[in-house]
Amino acid sequence: MSTLHLFTTAVHAGEQPDPSTGDSVAPIHMATTFYLGSTEEGAALFAGEREGFVYNRWDHPNQRMIEAKAAALDGADDALATATGMAAISTALLSQLSAGDHVVATDQLYSGTQHIFTHEFPKLGIEATLVDGTDPQHFAQALKPHTKLIYLETPGNPTLKLNDLAAITALARGRNILTMLDNTFATPINQRAVQLGVDVVLYSATKYMAGHGQAMGGMIVGAQDFITRARLGALRYLGGVISPFNAWLIMLGMHTYPLRVLRQNETALALARWLEDHPAVEWVRYPGLESHPQYALARKQMRGFGGMIAFELRGGIAVGARMMDRVKLCTLAVSLGHTKTLICHSASTTHSTVSREERLASGISDGLVRLSVGLEDVDDLMMDLDQALSE
Ligand code: PLP
Repeated sequence: MSTLHLFTTAVHAGEQPDPSTGDSVAPIHMATTFYLGSTEEGAALFAGEREGFVYNRWDHPNQRMIEAKAAALDGADDALATATGMAAISTALLSQLSAGDHVVATDQLYSGTQHIFTHEFPKLGIEATLVDGTDPQHFAQALKPHTKLIYLETPGNPTLKLNDLAAITALARGRNILTMLDNTFATPINQRAVQLGVDVVLYSATKYMAGHGQAMGGMIVGAQDFITRARLGALRYLGGVISPFNAWLIMLGMHTYPLRVLRQNETALALARWLEDHPAVEWVRYPGLESHPQYALARKQMRGFGGMIAFELRGGIAVGARMMDRVKLCTLAVSLGHTKTLICHSASTTHSTVSREERLASGISDGLVRLSVGLEDVDDLMMDLDQALSE
């Protein structure tokens, strides 16, 4: 399947028509447990000597379908689907790290990931150093003899700061350190992370992969040995498995994944340019704008610049709150990668658990407004934002 082109892969990879019914869309397999065949065959399944489904928490048919699709889209050996993006992140981290290990992470992180590094890891005896991820040298300077992982998120949520994937993965490879990247904002359509040298690629499938705000899920993509280790260990025993129904909903979402992302790229670029020229706007961050401090890097490592925009209005949060309360088409809600355009205030919502000091240090100003561009017509979005910005 991996030799097929992008749109074909999104529709077909991982799926076969059901021979018993002829369904053109794979059915949902809700069974929690699977017929073992015979005691001998059951023992072989448990011993790992035979392939097959045993118990829904271990893995199940709908899970395998979206895993094959995700692996094909990223051009990776295999993938592992999970219940949420956070389950993907925690499963992947705990598959790599144990007490006494050290991780260097970018400080431009989704707040849930930051919480793991700053609040959960100390309880487990795992040390994390967060660095300004815009300069690869910062990662090199923070390495310790027991560093086992470099963790990245580019573009970062919600600052849209970038990590230089080629430079940082080269640095890690030279020292035999694993690299992990949260590629949720970019998607494999815009950022070929595996080809850029990243070992393990993570997604909140809740976002662009599912794409309609209809299902929670997560995905870990990478080399066969890592995925197998995570599947047989942390996923199975910590229990972050995806439900068959959610996997099925995500599978349908993935059929239009590239179509949606390419459209969102186009709309977001037009909207970011329009916002930049708007008299009420103080600044705009979007990797596809020439004014982005890392525009050259964005052009080097991204094929499209994604559907996420950050901006601040003149007058800061007071004016921003007024605008967010007045939008009619945009939906005031957290999350991203929806068919509908979502708007939110990062400091009081997604990053409210991060201290103000840490938030400001990583570039999340009090007035930052985050926009997740949906599938609406760009003229209608401009009209909506314009009316919300007018006196
Ligand atoms: N990674 C990023 C970049 C996110 O924005 C989010 C959630 O907003 C997550 C991970 C966590 O995903 P989930 O909410 O599916 O657990």
